[in-house]
Amino acid sequence: MRLILFFSALLGAAWCLETFVGDQVLRVKASSEEQISKLQLLETLEHLQLDFWLRPSNPALPVDIRVPFASLQAVKVFLESHHIEYSILLKDLQVVIDQERQEMVSNQRERGSNDFNYAAYHSLEEIYTALDNLAAEYPSLVSKQKIGESYEKRPMYILKFSTGGTNRPAIWLDAGIHAREWITQATALWTAKKIASEYGNDPSVTSLLNTMDIFLLVATNPDGYAFSHTNNRMWRKTRSKISGSICIGVDPNRNWDAGFGGPGASTNPCSDSYHGPRANSEVEVQSVVDFIKSHGKIKAFLTIHSYSQLLLYPFGYKCTNPADYKELDAVGNAAASALTSLYGTKYTVGPICSTIYQASGGSIDWSYDYGIKYSFAFELRDTGRYGFLLPASQIIPTAEETWLGLMKIMEHVKDHPY
Ligand SMILES: [Zn+2]
Repeated sequence: MRLILFFSALLGAAWCLETFVGDQVLRVKASSEEQISKLQLLETLEHLQLDFWLRPSNPALPVDIRVPFASLQAVKVFLESHHIEYSILLKDLQVVIDQERQEMVSNQRERGSNDFNYAAYHSLEEIYTALDNLAAEYPSLVSKQKIGESYEKRPMYILKFSTGGTNRPAIWLDAGIHAREWITQATALWTAKKIASEYGNDPSVTSLLNTMDIFLLVATNPDGYAFSHTNNRMWRKTRSKISGSICIGVDPNRNWDAGFGGPGASTNPCSDSYHGPRANSEVEVQSVVDFIKSHGKIKAFLTIHSYSQLLLYPFGYKCTNPADYKELDAVGNAAASALTSLYGTKYTVGPICSTIYQASGGSIDWSYDYGIKYSFAFELRDTGRYGFLLPASQIIPTAEETWLGLMKIMEHVKDHPY
C-alpha cells in the first residue's frame, strides 16, 4: 500500500513518511538461465514498482524482491506461471520498519547526550555529533575534515587518524554510499571508535598508525541517508534533480568513471541503479575523487555496503581479472577467514563480475584503475533474513567481525608498500 502519511515527529519536525504496509520481500530461486531471463523481464515492468534488493544474475544466487502490496498478486501469479520457486522473507515490511523506529526512539529517551550508543541506529545529525566527540576525545590522533558538500549542501566529513608526519601513505575507508544500508554507517562509526581506542593498546593498530594514516567517511551519501530517516527508509540513491525527469537521484555507485554507462547500470532516471547523466555527475562522488587525487598516496580503497556477506574486488564493469588477481584473492580470503573466525559468519570472496554480476561505474573499479591496488568492497550481513533492515542488535557483532577482516587487509597493505 503506498500511503503518504503526514506525521508530526516526536522531535518536533514535520515530515512525510512513505509507508510500506503490506509490502513483502520475496526470496526467489531461479533454477535455470531461462528463469533468470523471466526475472529480468519482471524487472522491466515499471508499473509494478518492484524494488530488487538482489537482482537476477545467475541461477546460483537468490533474488530478493520488495513487492508493494498492490503488486503482490500479479507478481505471485507471474512466478507461479513460470514455475519459479519463491518464499516470503518479510511478510509485512512496515512491521519491521516500525520496530526499528521504535528502538531508535526508546534509545534516544534512555541515553544522555554524552553516552553514545554504538548499538543503535542514528540520524545524520547524531552521527556528525559523534564525529566531533571522537575528535575531542582523541585530539592527538583524530581530526575532522570537510571534503565537500552534498547536493543538498550537507557537509561531507571525514575523520583522519594520524600520529604525525606529512602526507604519509594512507588507507581510505567509506560507508553508506547507498543510503538504506544502515548497518554500514553504524559499522563505520564503531570502527572509528575502535581505531581511536586501540591505538597504543593493540600492537597491530599501533604499528599501522605509526606508518600510515587512515581516512574514514562514515556517510558518503548524506542526503540519501537523511532522506532514508525522514521520508523513505528504502531510499538508495543521491537526491539530485535530473533534468527532464520527475524522478530524483542517481545511484552513486554506478556514477564513477570506470566503464561508466556500461552493463549493470540503468539509463532510466527512475531506476534505483540509474548511472546519472555523466561520470562524476554526483557531487558526493566528485568530492571523494578530488580528495583521493589531491592526497596522492592512498594505498587502499575500502568501501562498505550491505547486504549478502561478500568481499569483492575488481572488476565489475568487465569480466576479466585484474593484474593483481592472485594477491587480491589471497588477501580477500585471509580477511574473510579472519572475519568468519569470530561468529562463524560466512563470506564469499571474488571479483564483482563473476561473484554477483557485471556492474559498471563502481567505486572500487575506479580506484583500482586509478592505481590503488588494494581496492575492496565489503557487503555486510545478512544474507536476506532482514536484508537492509538488519536489527540494531546485530550492529556490534557485525562491526566486531568486520573489524577483523578490515585489519587483515590493512596489515597486508602496511607490510606490502608500493
Ligand atoms: Zn550498496
